[in-house]
Amino acid sequence: MTVARILAVKGRDVISTQPHRTLREVAALLSEKNIGAVLVSGADGQILGILSERDIVCAIASGGAGALEDAVSRHMTARVTTATRDTHVDEIMECMTQGRFRHVPIVEKGELLGIISIGDVVKHRIAEIEHEAKVLKDYIATA
Ligand code: AMP
Repeated sequence: MTVARILAVKGRDVISTQPHRTLREVAALLSEKNIGAVLVSGADGQILGILSERDIVCAIASGGAGALEDAVSRHMTARVTTATRDTHVDEIMECMTQGRFRHVPIVEKGELLGIISIGDVVKHRIAEIEHEAKVLKDYIATA
């Protein structure tokens, strides 16, 4: 299964922020939208980085509660790993495991097409396994 199938179900919505926003603002956004990471984009929409809840936790652990007033640009990860619609879900899982992150933006020719989280991957993998099990059971029952 490729990423395209997951995007077809979950849609292309990506919550993003700007580099000058504060960690406090992003924490409120993550909480309001019930998500774990936001993309950081520039004025013309280009991806500048990604900031996840882990970045906020690390910032507070090293700088105390005052770090919540820091700019996003100070704590985001600027080298973002992306994938395309043709990327296989197994590759995304491998990439998340190797890179130790749980979010992968889907980008093609500079256009942001969506974001895949580890939750999306697990959900679709379980559905796939359940489908395979049903097909096998049906086959055995009719053989
Ligand atoms: P996460 O597991 O997604 O909460 O992120 C863990 C760490 O990896 C944080 O420092 C994020 O900024 C970073 N991160 C998250 N997603 C990506 C990605 N697609 N590419 C590079 N770094 C990422």
